[in-house]
Amino acid sequence: MAVRDLLILPDKRLRQKSEAVQTVDPALRALIDDMFATMYAAPGIGLAAIQIGVPQRVVTMDLAGKEDPPQPQVFLNPEIVSSSEEKSTYEEGCLSIPEYYEEVERPAAVKVKYMDLDGKAHEIEATGLLATCLQHEIDHLNGVLFIDYISKLKRDMVMKKFKKAAKTGGKPLANDKEPSHHIG
Ligand SMILES: [Zn+2]
Repeated sequence: MAVRDLLILPDKRLRQKSEAVQTVDPALRALIDDMFATMYAAPGIGLAAIQIGVPQRVVTMDLAGKEDPPQPQVFLNPEIVSSSEEKSTYEEGCLSIPEYYEEVERPAAVKVKYMDLDGKAHEIEATGLLATCLQHEIDHLNGVLFIDYISKLKRDMVMKKFKKAAKTGGKPLANDKEPSHHIG
């Protein structure tokens, strides 16, 4: 189990589409162990494999509160089957766009199908934070980032700051909020 480096904007790999998982083998289990280690260390509540540079459709998540026991969840090949008409707005952050937060409107509820570590298929109806987080992570698998939903003006500003930071090795944004705010 190892904490891996997170890909940070403007890393082009974040725009890559991830491939479906075919089999649950030891290599996949090792990847998932590393994803949890990296996610908890960040700390974040969700992580897509591409965020550590592995283009596979794997998502780890833990939505337990700080005081609660851990609730690790794994979603293999997650896919949105249907979305509610009703929308909800949540201030999102992303481990690949550190210290940047913006309100994003998404469907309030989604039906998601996925495979578990035993290769079993599931379908769940997600609402609240789970719905937001699943949509955010499934977007990662398709090369989509939450800044794609904000205004072009704001997105250009974020891209500029992160490009500059990547060049100079500096910090793109001031640390003005709790890091636990990052969705993943
Ligand atoms: Zn993210």
